[in-house]
Amino acid sequence: MDRKIIELANKLKDKMVERRRDFHRHAEVAWTEFRTAAKVAGVLTELGYEVKAGDEVMAAEAMMGLPSAAELERQTERALAQGADPAWVAKMKGGKTGVVGTLRFAKPGPTVALRFDMDANDAVEAEEEGHRPFREGFASINKGAMHACGHDAHTAVGLAVAEVLAALKGELAGTVKLIFQPAEEGVRGAKAMMAKGVVDDTDVIFGMHVGINLRKTGQLACNTVGFLATTKLDAVFTGVPAHAGAAPETGKNALLAAATAALNLHAISRHSQGASRVNVGVLQAGTGRNVIPANAVLKLETRGVTSAINEYVYAEAVRIVAAAAAMYDVKVALTEMGGAAGCESDPALVERVREVAERSGLFAELLPAGNIGGSEDCTYLMERVQQHGGLAAYVMVGTALAAGHHDFRFDIDEAVLPLAASLMACLAADTLLRPVK
Ligand SMILES: [Zn+2]
Repeated sequence: MDRKIIELANKLKDKMVERRRDFHRHAEVAWTEFRTAAKVAGVLTELGYEVKAGDEVMAAEAMMGLPSAAELERQTERALAQGADPAWVAKMKGGKTGVVGTLRFAKPGPTVALRFDMDANDAVEAEEEGHRPFREGFASINKGAMHACGHDAHTAVGLAVAEVLAALKGELAGTVKLIFQPAEEGVRGAKAMMAKGVVDDTDVIFGMHVGINLRKTGQLACNTVGFLATTKLDAVFTGVPAHAGAAPETGKNALLAAATAALNLHAISRHSQGASRVNVGVLQAGTGRNVIPANAVLKLETRGVTSAINEYVYAEAVRIVAAAAAMYDVKVALTEMGGAAGCESDPALVERVREVAERSGLFAELLPAGNIGGSEDCTYLMERVQQHGGLAAYVMVGTALAAGHHDFRFDIDEAVLPLAASLMACLAADTLLRPVK
């Protein structure tokens, strides 16, 4: 089976490169992946998958950090102008750009989900000869959007996996679910798919990322550690403006409330059960030297090594922000702009990854684990599967990189595409046919 999968995936290499470059050239940032998602939905449909998108796979109330309605409209128009299928785009109104393809095999078996993220970064791609996407004509034509994290590769790999598994329809058992997630950047998209229940029936889920701290093609980390649970918050303080010389006592000072909040947020106690973080990254306030500031915005984030520790920091943050507002008698509105869970892969599934990787002979170097060193919202889907008694693992597939992630000169080694597709298809096939205890 492995051999067959690898042969099929290798045959799809040119198609993967072509698709990856097409997604790269038409990069779309979080919640605006209309063209990318429409392509994904179209290909999955052609391959015989049952395809759900938009409202069917996203819970509107759990979508965080959405662009404005005007921006969504503008990006929708751009996607259509760049050849997106209008029928699919219509389903994705309001930024609901998630897609799930399901294939049921004849024989009974478990449900295995694979998750791929699709969004680009807010970055202006390098326009210099040394940058291959520019030199070879597939640099982003969408100014300000750039695939600087490899999610273009993830999407292309996901579609190849879909094709490989569809070709093996008669030989597999159970159900495979391919989850194409929007808005991973800023950790905004997974929660809405999780909240809609897309993994509620899932026994095993695999997440995957290329690169990160595996900078050699041919390396594989069978597990990923270092996921921090996080919540991204905007706090908007509203006071009352007043003349700072003539009538300061009639004002209510939003700047002081925000500043008090910022200082005390950084004084949240550490937690005995593990690492935590808090950061106020932005404080904007006031309009003029002689005006009591009536408006202030804080952008902050909390993190924890587990979801529980992040929830502790988050609850403290909410309390402090509200108390600071009360102290200065101003109003405050808090909005969650993003979030991810803390998560650990299940050892039994990591062991299975190692077994499959070793047997496949795909990789020159197998590492027990890579460190993600931050947050990734695939953890929401993984945590949900684990809460229901299922198993989750997240693998890191090495690739040489032209520059680090989120750098405007970022580029992958396309030799990673067939490796990643082979691995993910082998993992799906193996766990469908040989359920992990
Ligand atoms: Zn990424």
